[in-house]
Amino acid sequence: MNESRNDEALKGSRLLVVDDDPMNIDMLSRRLERAGYSVERAMSGREAIERVGAMRLDLILLDHSMPEMTGLEVLRQLRQRYSPLELPIIMVTAVNDSEMTAEAIEAGANDYITKPVDFVIALARIKSQLARSSNERTLIESNMRGALAALGGNDGLWDWDLETNEMYFSPRWTEILGYADAELQNSPEEWFSRIHLDDSNQVQQALEECITGAVEQFDSEHRLRHRDGTWRWVRSRARTMRDASGRALRVAGTLTDITQDKSSDPLTNLPNREALIELLNGALLRMRAQPGYSFAVGLANVDRFKVINDGLGHRAGDELLVAISQRLRAAVENAWVARFGGDEFAILIEQPADAEQISALGRSIARAFSAPFQLRAHEVFCTMSVGVGLGADASSVEDLLRDADTALHRAKTQGAGRLEIFNAGMRRRAVARLELELDLHRAIHNREFEVHYQPKISLFDNRVTGFEALVRWRHPRLGLLYPADFISIAEQTGLIVPLGMWVFEQAARQMVRWQQLFPRTPSLAMSVNLSCRQFLDPNLISDIRRVLSETGAEAHTLRLELTESVLIDDTDGALRILEQLKGLGLGLKMDDFGTGYSSLNYLSRLPFDSLKIDRSFVSQVNEGSNRDVVRTVVQLADTLGMTVVAEGVETQEQLEALRALGCEYAQGYYFCHPARPEEIEEKMCKGSDVWEHGAMPGEAALEEETIA
Ligand code: C2E
Ligand code: CA
Ligand code: CA
Repeated sequence: MNESRNDEALKGSRLLVVDDDPMNIDMLSRRLERAGYSVERAMSGREAIERVGAMRLDLILLDHSMPEMTGLEVLRQLRQRYSPLELPIIMVTAVNDSEMTAEAIEAGANDYITKPVDFVIALARIKSQLARSSNERTLIESNMRGALAALGGNDGLWDWDLETNEMYFSPRWTEILGYADAELQNSPEEWFSRIHLDDSNQVQQALEECITGAVEQFDSEHRLRHRDGTWRWVRSRARTMRDASGRALRVAGTLTDITQDKSSDPLTNLPNREALIELLNGALLRMRAQPGYSFAVGLANVDRFKVINDGLGHRAGDELLVAISQRLRAAVENAWVARFGGDEFAILIEQPADAEQISALGRSIARAFSAPFQLRAHEVFCTMSVGVGLGADASSVEDLLRDADTALHRAKTQGAGRLEIFNAGMRRRAVARLELELDLHRAIHNREFEVHYQPKISLFDNRVTGFEALVRWRHPRLGLLYPADFISIAEQTGLIVPLGMWVFEQAARQMVRWQQLFPRTPSLAMSVNLSCRQFLDPNLISDIRRVLSETGAEAHTLRLELTESVLIDDTDGALRILEQLKGLGLGLKMDDFGTGYSSLNYLSRLPFDSLKIDRSFVSQVNEGSNRDVVRTVVQLADTLGMTVVAEGVETQEQLEALRALGCEYAQGYYFCHPARPEEIEEKMCKGSDVWEHGAMPGEAALEEETIA
């Protein structure tokens, strides 16, 4: 080591001169100060010990002969806490007292000088002690770093001197954050200022606990800002080094880059959600900084995954997800694919030329998924729906993902295996939908709903034989809303359960009232629609029972209209519920018949007593194939002992065709639009229960009103 440089380094060391004689102290101190040291003074042993506890000292010059407490006593006390290496002490003794000098050396004095002090000798001994202790400290530090390095392998190392508040960072430490060795200062701020705001409290607290000794080891996972602006996940482990008294001197530890583990999905090995968000953040920044840069993100969701997963079991489901991830990655080639969670993947599309290029990506995904997946025990087909959000539309990653999700939702409702690109119209619809959802919660509470009724007519004599209850929402701002505007939201939010039961109760009361008002038409029945969600509600049976007893309605005057969708997931379970409903005495009607996956052969197993032919067949009943369908349905129903109702009859021709095919009952605008109960009563009271064409305008009048 370069001698003079070392000398320089030793200057500025802090010495404590202890002597009860003020003249001695003064003389010695001034000369030492002139030699470049910083000097503290103590006039007694007690004062010396206090000083040592209160500040960092590099060396003590300790006079032996003092009243109260001798230098030897002070030395013994200090040596209980500090080793000769940590705190060099030079005794100042009388020339003739060699016995005492020997005793002092034995008690741990590093060296001695005799009085009267020869300043040149004193200075040489001080220098030599300081140099030794400093060298040895450096040696220990570097040994420890070496040991840590051996432990850490590819880890970075750091070493924080609490006394000087300097922090050493190893080359690997700085490299993890993308810096060259010399670019960072020796300051803990280089580390602390790069910690992610959300992690910084946690790190500070853990460090403090390690320094105070509350915990033995510091062990913390946190994010650090890389030179390129991205976040790196690191794990740091450290221990505190203490002196003999337990005072914390240094904290030293390792730093490991765990970004890879933290940011990849263990199942598919794809980058995970956190990594995606990080990447999108980067892309957004880049878009703002670099004109001409654009990007889009696609959220790709496996269609019907839940059904497949439940059917295959979770292990095969996982196997499928892995296969899907590989196929997706191959299908989009240059784009970056991440697993967003569950059965959802994300695709980062950089610099798309135009919307057409994004759509082409959708087509290549669809192509990739047209072949079946060969799992160990199964062959499975599945498709992906993709929603794309454009970087240019978004002000935050959150916005962007929400846009993509809105587009995905749209893609799903359009059918499986589609790609939709987000547009402002979608956002408007999404916002309107959200508002409606909030309104819906309030609407139930505020009784904003009403029930309209559409008569069901016997085609044999045009008499009314029953009604279908149809719910309407008198929205305070938007006016009268029809089910198409709100039933699906009610289903998704579960609000359909209380709403549907409210409709059922209204309809039951109405039926009781109309049977009393119109005793001449004794076979009147009331049909109420029941959605899938209501059907699966565990309280369905008890709720219906309660309504029956509270309203006094007879069960056989009430019919539930159900679509085939209630049978899809769990036919046996559905059958049990149907039997229970039947057991209550209710009529069961299959709604929208012909639109589902109508398998005619299971119909015989189900306890339905009537079929409602869907409007789509009725409206074109005069076309050949539809006529055949209607004829088949009528014959089938006849065989199974069920009645048939045609819905949506609008014209004389349709009516005649249905009659000719043997259909017994019909509903439709031809006779009457759904109407408020008062209108129905008025018409029924006035005359007969025979309904001709346009017997009553019902909602049709209402529509004309609004148009006018
Ligand atoms: P749906 O069960 O198929 O009901 C028949 C729909 O056709 C009703 O629409 C009715 O107003 C309409 N309609 C009747 N005659 C004609 C016609 O001649 N031509 C045409 N084009 N349409 C006709 P609405 O009231 O808008 O109800 C739509 C759907 O909402 C219903 O379809 C039903 O699935 C559902 N819905 C209505 N009320 C309720 C309810 O209280 N609970 C549940 N769960 N669903 C309901
Ligand atoms: Ca219906
Ligand atoms: Ca229908």
